[in-house]
Amino acid sequence: MYNCIYCKRQYLKNTEHVFPLGLGGENIMIECVCGQCNNEFSKLERELYQKSPVALIRSIEGVIGNKSRNTVSAFKASLLLCQDDVTGVVYEVGQSEKMQVYIRPQIIHINNIFYVETDQQDNLNTLMMKFKAWKSDNLRLILKFPESNLMNTEYLEIEKTENSYFHKKVKGELKIKNEIILGLLPRSHHLNKSLHTRIYLDDEKNLRIRAKTDKAAIKFILDLLKFSDSKELMTSYVSDTKNMNEVSVGFNFDSKKCEQAMVKIALNSIFHYYPDSRDQSAVQPYLDFVKNGNKTFSAGIETKNHILDSQTNSHNIFLYQTESFLSIRLSLFNGQFVYQFLIPCLQLLRVHKFTQITIDYKRNKNQINDHI
Ligand SMILES: [Zn+2]
Repeated sequence: MYNCIYCKRQYLKNTEHVFPLGLGGENIMIECVCGQCNNEFSKLERELYQKSPVALIRSIEGVIGNKSRNTVSAFKASLLLCQDDVTGVVYEVGQSEKMQVYIRPQIIHINNIFYVETDQQDNLNTLMMKFKAWKSDNLRLILKFPESNLMNTEYLEIEKTENSYFHKKVKGELKIKNEIILGLLPRSHHLNKSLHTRIYLDDEKNLRIRAKTDKAAIKFILDLLKFSDSKELMTSYVSDTKNMNEVSVGFNFDSKKCEQAMVKIALNSIFHYYPDSRDQSAVQPYLDFVKNGNKTFSAGIETKNHILDSQTNSHNIFLYQTESFLSIRLSLFNGQFVYQFLIPCLQLLRVHKFTQITIDYKRNKNQINDHI
Protein backbone atom coordinates (compact mmCIF):
# COMPACT_ATOMS: atom_id res chain seq x y z
CA MET A 1 0.00 0.00 0.00
CA TYR A 2 1.10 3.55 -0.70
CA ASN A 3 -0.13 6.87 0.64
CA CYS A 4 -1.18 9.47 -1.89
CA ILE A 5 0.74 12.59 -0.98
CA TYR A 6 -2.08 14.76 -2.33
CA CYS A 7 -5.28 13.30 -0.83
CA LYS A 8 -3.57 11.16 1.87
CA ARG A 9 -5.67 8.14 0.96
CA GLN A 10 -4.06 4.72 0.69
CA TYR A 11 -3.86 3.10 -2.71
CA LEU A 12 -2.45 -0.09 -4.15
CA LYS A 13 -0.35 0.89 -7.11
CA ASN A 14 -0.33 3.71 -9.61
CA THR A 15 2.92 4.66 -11.23
CA GLU A 16 2.95 7.94 -13.08
CA HIS A 17 5.48 9.84 -15.13
CA VAL A 18 7.91 12.13 -13.33
CA PHE A 19 7.67 14.56 -16.22
CA PRO A 20 4.57 14.43 -18.46
CA LEU A 21 5.23 12.49 -21.66
CA GLY A 22 3.16 15.05 -23.53
CA LEU A 23 6.07 17.47 -23.13
CA GLY A 24 8.68 14.92 -24.22
CA GLY A 25 11.48 13.49 -22.11
CA GLU A 26 12.44 10.21 -20.56
CA ASN A 27 9.95 7.60 -19.44
CA ILE A 28 10.70 7.73 -15.69
CA MET A 29 7.99 6.61 -13.32
CA ILE A 30 7.24 7.67 -9.77
CA GLU A 31 4.94 6.30 -7.07
CA CYS A 32 3.37 9.14 -5.06
CA VAL A 33 -0.16 9.77 -6.28
CA CYS A 34 -3.34 7.66 -6.34
CA GLY A 35 -5.18 6.90 -9.57
CA GLN A 36 -8.02 9.26 -8.75
CA CYS A 37 -5.77 12.28 -8.14
CA ASN A 38 -3.64 11.34 -11.10
CA ASN A 39 -6.69 11.45 -13.34
CA GLU A 40 -7.50 14.97 -12.19
CA PHE A 41 -3.89 16.08 -12.63
CA SER A 42 -3.74 14.71 -16.17
CA LYS A 43 -6.52 17.16 -17.03
CA LEU A 44 -4.44 20.01 -15.61
CA GLU A 45 -1.42 18.93 -17.64
CA ARG A 46 -3.42 18.65 -20.81
CA GLU A 47 -4.73 22.18 -20.26
CA LEU A 48 -1.10 23.29 -20.25
CA TYR A 49 0.33 21.35 -23.18
CA GLN A 50 -2.74 20.97 -25.39
CA LYS A 51 -4.60 24.26 -24.95
CA SER A 52 -2.33 27.04 -23.71
CA PRO A 53 0.37 28.81 -25.76
CA VAL A 54 2.69 25.98 -24.62
CA ALA A 55 0.67 23.74 -27.00
CA LEU A 56 1.68 25.89 -29.94
CA ILE A 57 5.36 25.84 -28.94
CA ARG A 58 5.15 22.07 -28.46
CA SER A 59 3.84 21.66 -31.96
CA ILE A 60 6.47 23.95 -33.50
CA GLU A 61 9.26 22.19 -31.58
CA GLY A 62 8.02 18.85 -32.90
CA VAL A 63 7.52 17.06 -29.60
CA ILE A 64 6.26 13.55 -30.12
CA GLY A 65 3.42 13.24 -27.66
CA ASN A 66 2.17 9.76 -28.16
CA LYS A 67 5.23 7.59 -28.59
CA SER A 68 3.41 4.61 -30.06
CA ARG A 69 2.14 6.67 -32.97
CA ASN A 70 5.44 8.38 -33.49
CA THR A 71 3.87 11.54 -34.83
CA VAL A 72 4.45 15.12 -33.87
CA SER A 73 1.73 16.55 -31.63
CA ALA A 74 -0.09 19.05 -33.80
CA PHE A 75 -1.42 22.16 -32.15
CA LYS A 76 -5.18 22.10 -31.88
CA ALA A 77 -6.62 25.50 -31.27
CA SER A 78 -9.87 25.53 -29.39
CA LEU A 79 -11.15 28.41 -31.45
CA LEU A 80 -10.53 28.58 -35.17
CA LEU A 81 -12.44 31.01 -37.34
CA CYS A 82 -12.10 32.04 -40.96
CA GLN A 83 -13.59 35.06 -42.65
CA ASP A 84 -14.70 35.06 -46.27
CA ASP A 85 -13.00 38.09 -47.87
CA VAL A 86 -15.86 38.65 -50.30
CA THR A 87 -18.98 38.21 -48.18
CA GLY A 88 -17.46 39.02 -44.78
CA VAL A 89 -19.10 35.96 -43.24
CA VAL A 90 -17.12 34.29 -40.44
CA TYR A 91 -17.09 30.46 -40.44
CA GLU A 92 -16.13 27.85 -37.91
CA VAL A 93 -13.21 25.90 -39.25
CA GLY A 94 -11.41 22.81 -38.01
CA GLN A 95 -7.86 21.66 -38.35
CA SER A 96 -6.61 18.29 -39.48
CA GLU A 97 -3.53 16.53 -38.07
CA LYS A 98 -1.42 18.07 -40.81
CA MET A 99 -2.45 21.61 -39.86
CA GLN A 100 -4.84 21.80 -42.80
CA VAL A 101 -7.98 23.81 -42.34
CA TYR A 102 -11.46 22.67 -43.32
CA ILE A 103 -14.93 24.15 -42.88
CA ARG A 104 -16.81 22.51 -40.04
CA PRO A 105 -20.38 21.44 -40.69
CA GLN A 106 -22.54 24.32 -39.52
CA ILE A 107 -25.91 26.00 -39.80
CA ILE A 108 -25.48 29.74 -39.79
CA HIS A 109 -28.10 32.46 -39.52
CA ILE A 110 -27.52 35.38 -41.89
CA ASN A 111 -30.18 38.09 -42.38
CA ASN A 112 -32.89 35.83 -40.95
CA ILE A 113 -32.11 32.98 -43.31
CA PHE A 114 -30.49 29.69 -42.31
CA TYR A 115 -27.62 28.53 -44.48
CA VAL A 116 -25.78 25.27 -44.25
CA GLU A 117 -22.04 24.88 -44.81
CA THR A 118 -19.63 21.98 -44.91
CA ASP A 119 -16.90 20.56 -47.05
CA GLN A 120 -17.74 16.99 -46.15
CA GLN A 121 -21.24 15.72 -46.70
CA ASP A 122 -20.75 12.96 -44.06
CA ASN A 123 -20.07 15.51 -41.35
CA LEU A 124 -23.12 17.49 -42.34
CA ASN A 125 -25.25 14.34 -42.09
CA THR A 126 -23.88 13.78 -38.58
CA LEU A 127 -24.76 17.35 -37.61
CA MET A 128 -28.32 16.94 -38.92
CA MET A 129 -28.74 13.57 -37.21
CA LYS A 130 -27.48 14.93 -33.91
CA PHE A 131 -29.75 17.93 -34.12
CA LYS A 132 -32.78 15.74 -34.87
CA ALA A 133 -31.95 13.47 -31.94
CA TRP A 134 -31.50 16.48 -29.66
CA LYS A 135 -34.81 17.90 -30.81
CA SER A 136 -36.74 14.71 -30.23
CA ASP A 137 -35.39 13.73 -26.84
CA ASN A 138 -33.33 16.40 -25.15
CA LEU A 139 -34.05 20.07 -25.92
CA ARG A 140 -31.52 21.35 -23.43
CA LEU A 141 -28.86 23.96 -24.02
CA ILE A 142 -25.95 24.38 -21.63
CA LEU A 143 -25.30 28.05 -21.00
CA LYS A 144 -22.55 27.78 -18.41
CA PHE A 145 -20.96 24.81 -16.79
CA PRO A 146 -18.19 24.94 -14.23
CA GLU A 147 -16.14 21.78 -14.82
CA SER A 148 -15.35 21.18 -11.17
CA ASN A 149 -18.81 21.62 -9.71
CA LEU A 150 -21.68 20.47 -11.89
CA MET A 151 -24.12 21.73 -9.24
CA ASN A 152 -23.74 25.21 -10.69
CA THR A 153 -24.50 24.31 -14.26
CA GLU A 154 -26.73 26.86 -15.92
CA TYR A 155 -28.89 25.54 -18.68
CA LEU A 156 -31.93 26.18 -20.75
CA GLU A 157 -34.86 23.81 -20.96
CA ILE A 158 -37.01 24.13 -24.02
CA GLU A 159 -40.52 22.76 -24.18
CA LYS A 160 -42.64 22.23 -27.20
CA THR A 161 -46.33 22.94 -27.13
CA GLU A 162 -48.54 22.58 -30.17
CA ASN A 163 -47.05 25.23 -32.41
CA SER A 164 -44.36 26.96 -30.48
CA TYR A 165 -41.42 26.57 -28.15
CA PHE A 166 -41.03 27.90 -24.63
CA HIS A 167 -37.83 28.09 -22.65
CA LYS A 168 -36.78 28.52 -19.07
CA LYS A 169 -33.38 28.97 -17.49
CA VAL A 170 -32.50 26.36 -14.88
CA LYS A 171 -29.61 26.17 -12.46
CA GLY A 172 -28.49 22.97 -10.85
CA GLU A 173 -26.79 19.68 -11.38
CA LEU A 174 -26.72 18.32 -14.89
CA LYS A 175 -24.73 15.44 -16.29
CA ILE A 176 -23.64 16.72 -19.64
CA LYS A 177 -24.68 14.28 -22.30
CA ASN A 178 -26.09 15.15 -25.70
CA GLU A 179 -26.86 18.70 -24.70
CA ILE A 180 -25.93 21.59 -26.94
CA ILE A 181 -23.13 23.62 -25.43
CA LEU A 182 -23.00 27.36 -25.89
CA GLY A 183 -19.75 29.21 -26.45
CA LEU A 184 -19.65 32.99 -26.58
CA LEU A 185 -17.12 34.80 -28.73
CA PRO A 186 -15.52 37.44 -26.48
CA ARG A 187 -16.38 41.00 -27.37
CA SER A 188 -12.67 41.75 -27.59
CA HIS A 189 -12.21 39.27 -30.45
CA HIS A 190 -11.55 41.09 -33.71
CA LEU A 191 -14.15 38.99 -35.56
CA ASN A 192 -16.87 39.58 -32.96
CA LYS A 193 -18.58 42.30 -35.00
CA SER A 194 -18.86 40.06 -38.06
CA LEU A 195 -20.09 36.99 -36.22
CA HIS A 196 -23.46 35.48 -37.11
CA THR A 197 -24.87 32.96 -34.68
CA ARG A 198 -24.33 29.35 -35.74
CA ILE A 199 -24.59 25.76 -34.62
CA TYR A 200 -21.74 23.41 -35.51
CA LEU A 201 -20.02 20.14 -34.66
CA ASP A 202 -16.79 20.17 -32.69
CA ASP A 203 -13.97 17.59 -32.84
CA GLU A 204 -15.76 15.31 -30.39
CA LYS A 205 -18.90 15.56 -32.53
CA ASN A 206 -20.72 17.62 -29.92
CA LEU A 207 -23.27 20.19 -31.02
CA ARG A 208 -22.14 23.68 -30.18
CA ILE A 209 -23.59 27.12 -30.67
CA ARG A 210 -21.36 30.14 -31.03
CA ALA A 211 -22.93 33.55 -30.51
CA LYS A 212 -22.13 37.01 -29.22
CA THR A 213 -24.53 36.78 -26.27
CA ASP A 214 -26.72 34.29 -24.41
CA LYS A 215 -29.74 36.15 -25.72
CA ALA A 216 -28.65 35.78 -29.35
CA ALA A 217 -28.00 32.06 -28.80
CA ILE A 218 -31.45 31.49 -27.29
CA LYS A 219 -33.18 33.36 -30.10
CA PHE A 220 -31.17 31.38 -32.64
CA ILE A 221 -32.08 27.98 -31.23
CA LEU A 222 -35.79 28.83 -30.95
CA ASP A 223 -35.82 30.13 -34.53
CA LEU A 224 -33.96 27.05 -35.74
CA LEU A 225 -36.43 24.74 -34.01
CA LYS A 226 -39.33 26.51 -35.68
CA PHE A 227 -37.55 26.46 -39.02
CA SER A 228 -36.83 22.73 -38.73
CA ASP A 229 -40.55 22.07 -38.24
CA SER A 230 -41.25 23.78 -41.56
CA LYS A 231 -39.18 21.25 -43.58
CA GLU A 232 -37.84 23.98 -45.84
CA LEU A 233 -34.51 23.28 -47.46
CA MET A 234 -31.32 25.15 -46.73
CA THR A 235 -28.68 26.23 -49.20
CA SER A 236 -25.07 27.27 -48.90
CA TYR A 237 -23.94 30.89 -48.56
CA VAL A 238 -20.21 30.47 -48.89
CA SER A 239 -18.89 32.22 -52.02
CA ASP A 240 -15.70 30.30 -52.53
CA THR A 241 -13.37 28.78 -49.95
CA LYS A 242 -10.44 30.25 -51.89
CA ASN A 243 -11.43 33.63 -50.50
CA MET A 244 -10.59 32.47 -47.02
CA ASN A 245 -6.89 32.87 -46.54
CA GLU A 246 -6.42 33.95 -42.99
CA VAL A 247 -7.29 31.67 -40.12
CA SER A 248 -7.93 33.35 -36.82
CA VAL A 249 -6.53 31.24 -34.01
CA GLY A 250 -7.84 31.66 -30.52
CA PHE A 251 -6.59 30.26 -27.26
CA ASN A 252 -9.15 29.26 -24.76
CA PHE A 253 -7.55 27.88 -21.65
CA ASP A 254 -7.74 28.06 -17.90
CA SER A 255 -4.59 29.80 -16.66
CA LYS A 256 -5.06 28.56 -13.13
CA LYS A 257 -5.12 24.95 -14.27
CA CYS A 258 -1.94 25.58 -16.23
CA GLU A 259 -0.36 27.01 -13.11
CA GLN A 260 -1.45 24.01 -11.06
CA ALA A 261 0.07 21.77 -13.72
CA MET A 262 3.38 23.63 -13.59
CA VAL A 263 3.62 23.39 -9.82
CA LYS A 264 2.79 19.69 -10.04
CA ILE A 265 5.41 19.04 -12.72
CA ALA A 266 8.07 20.81 -10.65
CA LEU A 267 7.07 19.01 -7.44
CA ASN A 268 7.13 15.59 -9.11
CA SER A 269 10.66 16.15 -10.33
CA ILE A 270 11.77 17.31 -6.89
CA PHE A 271 10.12 14.30 -5.23
CA HIS A 272 11.86 11.99 -7.67
CA TYR A 273 15.36 13.40 -7.27
CA TYR A 274 15.00 14.33 -3.58
CA PRO A 275 12.67 11.67 -2.13
CA ASP A 276 12.96 13.05 1.43
CA SER A 277 11.26 16.26 0.33
CA ARG A 278 7.87 14.50 0.05
CA ASP A 279 7.28 14.32 3.76
CA GLN A 280 8.25 17.86 4.62
CA SER A 281 5.45 20.09 5.85
CA ALA A 282 6.86 23.01 3.83
CA VAL A 283 5.54 21.47 0.59
CA GLN A 284 1.98 21.01 1.92
CA PRO A 285 0.55 24.37 0.67
CA TYR A 286 1.89 23.52 -2.80
CA LEU A 287 0.29 20.06 -2.76
CA ASP A 288 -2.97 21.75 -1.71
CA PHE A 289 -2.71 24.17 -4.59
CA VAL A 290 -2.29 21.34 -7.11
CA LYS A 291 -5.21 19.46 -5.56
CA ASN A 292 -7.67 22.30 -4.84
CA GLY A 293 -6.41 25.40 -6.62
CA ASN A 294 -6.21 27.38 -3.36
CA LYS A 295 -3.18 29.55 -3.82
CA THR A 296 -1.47 30.82 -0.72
CA PHE A 297 1.93 31.67 -2.18
CA SER A 298 3.25 34.02 -4.80
CA ALA A 299 4.58 32.87 -8.12
CA GLY A 300 4.97 34.30 -11.56
CA ILE A 301 5.87 34.05 -15.19
CA GLU A 302 9.49 34.96 -15.84
CA THR A 303 11.35 35.96 -18.95
CA LYS A 304 13.95 33.89 -20.74
CA ASN A 305 17.41 34.04 -19.24
CA HIS A 306 20.18 33.64 -21.82
CA ILE A 307 22.54 31.89 -19.44
CA LEU A 308 20.09 29.61 -17.65
CA ASP A 309 18.17 28.79 -20.80
CA SER A 310 21.11 28.37 -23.14
CA GLN A 311 20.76 24.61 -23.63
CA THR A 312 18.92 23.52 -26.74
CA ASN A 313 15.94 21.17 -26.96
CA SER A 314 15.37 21.05 -23.27
CA HIS A 315 13.09 21.88 -20.41
CA ASN A 316 14.94 22.81 -17.26
CA ILE A 317 14.09 22.92 -13.61
CA PHE A 318 16.48 25.09 -11.62
CA LEU A 319 16.59 24.84 -7.86
CA TYR A 320 18.37 27.47 -5.85
CA GLN A 321 18.77 27.23 -2.10
CA THR A 322 18.96 30.16 0.29
CA GLU A 323 18.89 30.10 4.06
CA SER A 324 15.16 30.72 4.16
CA PHE A 325 13.68 29.20 1.00
CA LEU A 326 14.13 26.99 -2.02
CA SER A 327 13.57 28.79 -5.31
CA ILE A 328 12.12 26.71 -8.16
CA ARG A 329 12.23 27.85 -11.75
CA LEU A 330 10.47 25.69 -14.33
CA SER A 331 11.58 26.61 -17.82
CA LEU A 332 9.81 24.96 -20.76
CA PHE A 333 11.22 24.85 -24.29
CA ASN A 334 14.53 26.60 -23.61
CA GLY A 335 12.95 29.43 -21.74
CA GLN A 336 10.06 30.17 -24.08
CA PHE A 337 7.78 29.66 -21.10
CA VAL A 338 9.14 30.15 -17.57
CA TYR A 339 7.35 29.84 -14.24
CA GLN A 340 8.94 30.50 -10.87
CA PHE A 341 7.93 30.05 -7.24
CA LEU A 342 9.52 29.76 -3.81
CA ILE A 343 8.99 27.26 -1.04
CA PRO A 344 9.88 28.84 2.31
CA CYS A 345 11.55 26.65 4.91
CA LEU A 346 12.40 23.86 2.49
CA GLN A 347 16.04 22.89 2.57
CA LEU A 348 17.23 20.39 -0.03
CA LEU A 349 20.62 21.78 -1.08
CA ARG A 350 23.50 23.49 0.64
CA VAL A 351 22.92 27.22 1.01
CA HIS A 352 23.65 29.21 -2.18
CA LYS A 353 23.89 26.04 -4.31
CA PHE A 354 22.07 25.43 -7.59
CA THR A 355 20.76 22.25 -9.10
CA GLN A 356 19.59 21.85 -12.66
CA ILE A 357 17.28 19.08 -13.83
CA THR A 358 17.32 18.88 -17.61
CA ILE A 359 14.71 17.16 -19.74
CA ASP A 360 15.89 16.74 -23.31
CA TYR A 361 12.66 16.56 -25.31
CA LYS A 362 14.31 15.54 -28.57
CA ARG A 363 16.51 12.69 -27.32
CA ASN A 364 14.15 11.87 -24.45
CA LYS A 365 16.79 11.93 -21.74
CA ASN A 366 16.46 13.44 -18.26
CA GLN A 367 19.45 14.27 -16.13
CA ILE A 368 20.29 16.08 -12.95
CA ASN A 369 23.33 18.26 -12.54
CA ASP A 370 23.91 19.28 -8.97
CA HIS A 371 27.51 20.45 -9.23
CA ILE A 372 26.82 24.01 -10.22
ZN1 LIG B 1 -4.89 11.00 -4.15
